[in-house]
Amino acid sequence: MREPLARIDPERARHYRESGLWGSSRVDQTVLAAARIRPDAVALTAGGRSLSHGALAAAVASAAARLTTLGVRRGDAMIVQLPNDLELVVLTLALSRIGAPPVLTPTALRDYELDQLVRIVRPVGIAVAATHARFDHLAMARRLRAAHPSVRRLVVSDADDAADESVVDLIALCEPMDGPSASEPETAQLDDAALCLLSSGTTGPPKVIPRLQQAYDYQLRITPNLAGVDQDSVYLAVMPATHGFVLGCPGVLGTIGAGGRVVLGHSAEPAVAFELIERERVTHCALVPALAQRWAEAATDTGHDLSSLRVVQVGGARPSRPQVERIPRALGAVVQQCYGMSEGLLNYTSLDDSTDIIFDTQGRPASPADEILVVGADGNPVPPGGVGELLTRGPYTVAGYYADDAANAKSFTGDGYYRTGDLVRVHQPSSSLVVEGRCRDVVNRGGEKIPAAELESLAGEHPAVAEVAVIGVPHERYGEIVCLYIVCRDGLPAPDLREVRGFLAERGLARFKLPECLEIVERLPYLGIGKVDKKSLRASVDKTAG
Ligand code: AMP
Repeated sequence: MREPLARIDPERARHYRESGLWGSSRVDQTVLAAARIRPDAVALTAGGRSLSHGALAAAVASAAARLTTLGVRRGDAMIVQLPNDLELVVLTLALSRIGAPPVLTPTALRDYELDQLVRIVRPVGIAVAATHARFDHLAMARRLRAAHPSVRRLVVSDADDAADESVVDLIALCEPMDGPSASEPETAQLDDAALCLLSSGTTGPPKVIPRLQQAYDYQLRITPNLAGVDQDSVYLAVMPATHGFVLGCPGVLGTIGAGGRVVLGHSAEPAVAFELIERERVTHCALVPALAQRWAEAATDTGHDLSSLRVVQVGGARPSRPQVERIPRALGAVVQQCYGMSEGLLNYTSLDDSTDIIFDTQGRPASPADEILVVGADGNPVPPGGVGELLTRGPYTVAGYYADDAANAKSFTGDGYYRTGDLVRVHQPSSSLVVEGRCRDVVNRGGEKIPAAELESLAGEHPAVAEVAVIGVPHERYGEIVCLYIVCRDGLPAPDLREVRGFLAERGLARFKLPECLEIVERLPYLGIGKVDKKSLRASVDKTAG
C-alpha cells in the first residue's frame, strides 16, 4: 500500500474526529481490548481448537514480531486467502497492526482472479492453506510467485515442503512466543489501511477496497450494539470470514471486540452448522438469503437444539419475504436484515422493528453520520419514496479504491459520495431502505457477485462463440443465477452447458461464476448503439417463465 490511499476529505475527517466518532485506537487494539478485561474467556474456536482473549492477543503479538523478522514492513501488503481457521484471524490482526494490510481474498478465487489481484497490489507474500476443498492452493501460490517477483514469501498452513525456504509455516508463525521478540514490530498509523476487502467490480479485475484504521475501527465499535452482540454472545461464522459481512458487521472482529466468542465453521450445511449451534450455544449468525431458506427448511425436522439462537442476520442479496418470514418460527430467532457493501455503508433493521419492517425492508444506516442520497438518471434527488440510485458517504465508507483512478472517477462523485449502483427507495414512514435492483451489470447469485462483462469476455474466447451475453435469470433459492446467451459461429457445432463450463473453469475462473443455464440463439437483441439489449433478454426469460 505504498501509493497514496484515497482519503476522506480533511473537513469531514476533522468533523468525525472532533465529534468523537473516530477514536485513537487501531483495529487490532479494539478487537483485542477484551484481553485485558477477560483474558481467560474463550474468544475464538475453530476445528476443535480454541484461543482465549488473552491467548489471541499473545498470538497476534508473536505473529507481528515474526512477520517483522521476515521483512514484512509497514506499507507492504499480503494476499490472505485462508479458510475459516484461527490463523486467518491471527494473521489478519497481526498484519493490520504492522500496517501491512491483509488483502482478504475468498478461497473460491482461482488463478484468473488472483493474477489480476497480484498485479494491482504487488503483495510481498501470499498466505494460503496448502489445499482447501480439494484445490491445491499452494501450487497456485507457487505459479503466482513464479510470475510476479514482488511475491517473496508464501505463508502456508499444512505445507509439507520443508525444503522450500521461502515457504513459511503459518501455524508456527502464529504460535505465542515464550519471551520477548528480537525485533520490535512497527505499528500502523491511524490513517493507514487496516485491511483490504475485494469488490467483484462490474468489469475486469476485482477492485481493492482499503479500509482505513480509524474508519473500520468505528464500524467495529458501533455494529455489535446494533446486532445485540455483547460479551455473552456467541457468533457462528459459516460463510467465509474473508467477506466483509462475516468479518465485521459485527461478525468475527466485532464480536471478539465486544468480548464475546466466535466459532468459525467450515460448512454452511444445516446438518453441520446445527450441530455447532447446539454444542457451542450459538446466539448469532449471518446468512445469505438462500442459506437462510435452507436452514429454515432443515430446522423443521432437525434433532438438534437450536434454542440458543437469538439473531439471524440476512444480507448480501435481497431476500424474498418467504425466505425471511419462516426464520423466527423455524429457528426461534429474530431476523435482522442487513444491506451493505464492502465499500462501507451498512444498513440494518432494528431487532425491535415491526415484522413488516423486518420482512420487507433492508434497514437503516448504521451511523447517524451516514449520508445517503437517492438520485435519478440526471443525478438529481428523486421525489420522496421514488426509486433511484443510492449514493452515500460517511465515517466508515471509503473515498476510493486502491490504485484505480478509472474506477474511482466512475464510482465516486466530486464531493465524495460512493455510487453504490443499487436502485433503492426510502420506505415511509420507517425511513428504512428497500433495494429494488441494480443499475450495474452484475449477477447476484445469492450474495455472490458475478460481473457480466468478465464472463462475456472469457466465454467469447470459445472458438464456436460469435456473440455472447450474460444475464441473471430469476431463481427461487438464489434470487438469480447466471444464464449465458450464445450466438454460434457459422458452421460450428453449438457447445453445450457442460462444455462451456469446462472451458471457463480451465481458464482459471472461480467455480461460483460458471453459468448454470445456456441458451443458443440465432441473434441477440441490440440497442441502436451496438449494446446488447439485456432488458429485452430478461423480459423474454420472464415471459417463458410466466
Ligand atoms: P459486497 O461488496 O460483495 O458486499 O456487495 C455489495 C452489494 O451486494 C450491494 O451493493 C448490493 O448490490 C448487494 N447487497 C448486499 N446486501 C443486500 C441486501 N440485503 N439486499 C439487496 N442487495 C444487497
